[in-house]
Amino acid sequence: MQIVFAASEAAPFAKTGGLADVVDALPREVARQGHQVSVFLPLYSSVRSHIDKEIKYAVRSITIPFPHGNRFAGIVNGGSREGVQYYFVDCPEFFDRQGLYGNNGDSYADNAERFGLFCRAVLEAAKILGVPDVFHVHDWQAALLPVLLRTVYRTDPLLEKAAAVLTIHNAGYQGWFPPSTTEQLLLPWELFTYDKLEQFNTFSFLKGGAVYSDLITTVSPSYAGEIQTPEYGNGLDGALRERSADLRGILNGVDYNEWDPATDGNLAAHFNPLDLSGKRDCRKDLLHAFGLEVSDESPVIGICSRFASQKGFDLLEQIAGRLAERDVAVVALGTGEPYYEKFFRDFAFANASRFSVQIRYDDAMAHKIEAGSDIFLMPSRFEPCGLNQIYSLKYGTVPVVHATGGLDDTVEEWNPSQKTGTGFKFKQYEAQAFLDAVDRALSAFYDKAQWLKLMENGMAQNFSWEKPAEEYIRAYEEAARKRA
Ligand code: ADP
Repeated sequence: MQIVFAASEAAPFAKTGGLADVVDALPREVARQGHQVSVFLPLYSSVRSHIDKEIKYAVRSITIPFPHGNRFAGIVNGGSREGVQYYFVDCPEFFDRQGLYGNNGDSYADNAERFGLFCRAVLEAAKILGVPDVFHVHDWQAALLPVLLRTVYRTDPLLEKAAAVLTIHNAGYQGWFPPSTTEQLLLPWELFTYDKLEQFNTFSFLKGGAVYSDLITTVSPSYAGEIQTPEYGNGLDGALRERSADLRGILNGVDYNEWDPATDGNLAAHFNPLDLSGKRDCRKDLLHAFGLEVSDESPVIGICSRFASQKGFDLLEQIAGRLAERDVAVVALGTGEPYYEKFFRDFAFANASRFSVQIRYDDAMAHKIEAGSDIFLMPSRFEPCGLNQIYSLKYGTVPVVHATGGLDDTVEEWNPSQKTGTGFKFKQYEAQAFLDAVDRALSAFYDKAQWLKLMENGMAQNFSWEKPAEEYIRAYEEAARKRA
């Protein structure tokens, strides 16, 4: 089959979160399994350092109509990597910016036009470069593509048979814009109804994608169920319940070429399940990087995350005082909402000998945290899949997680009598339940035999992309059959 991915992020070109990791690894694995895959991304300024200085255009100029005149986009041939062809939508006035979606926490005012143009440009480019069997679109930024495909481009004979699969990586971000967006993107007003693009009198990209895609997937089986409920659907639950027969939960894989302590180039030392000695060096290196000195007997607790309210740091805030009474070191890496950046700064300042935070985005440091920590915290209020807890398992770092979405699907509670399980979970989203889970982890840590077994269990887990990619390929086949 021929598959075109359309997404707003893919590592290493542009990344703010887990979406980028998926759109990096999944296309490569689908290609490895024998399919023809290309990936379309916007040409942000961050992309430039990853492509040839001498830009090669696959398509010189695509005209995208807007109410006050046309805009133009080129399609840059980004070459192929591991069997995947990359194309970049080049529209400097929209994409040649430092932030992907905004600056200093504020979204760009023209995001609807930016990603509306992106979706149209991908369709137009496909008509020239080759229409795929399936467009696989990701999150709200690419969700207008299926809408265009089945409405504005409905009668286009070239595109008629192409199917669309939408993957929702996070229903917390739906691309809501004012109703006037309908006109701004030159869409007919009849699309602005509650059964199509309208949601609480806003224009919703993700809802449109959910209505018009042939198949919808999301990134874990638990989250597939959760987003059909008002609690997690964030207003989209009704539309998703309508489509529940076409909704699949496919757990993300992780890329063990990037995330394996036996080979990870970012680490001070390597280790594997048979020889864990390198982990001690990684711990020392991590503490050094965070300016901390603590005894070998104190566990190091790691955090690496976007500092967003989704991530459950309100619970951490509530237990911070009591955590400080325990004999632990905490290292945190992240950026995001000013409120949480301040919380982490204050938290580290008040407990400077044992708590340390770095407010920035640093991929190498993310690897060092996975390798050098003993315990990893992810108290997320909701978590579609979550990657860091899966990385943690591989690095012998025991996750403590809220039992939600992909966290619930990938971490199994430690059972001391059976010696089964890989981490610690709490069900109720409450500070005390979180602290209890941390305390269960701490008491296991002080029993070296238990802890070793826990680490071994985690390191033996396999979340590689092979199986999830097979599931996606089945989804592509199913979507293509619907079109045929
Ligand atoms: P989300 O996509 O909601 O941010 P995931 O757990 O799915 O959460 O993915 C997060 C990814 O982003 C991981 O690869 C993680 O290492 C990375 N990450 C998050 N914050 C930072 C940071 N400040 N520095 C480096 N990597 C980060």
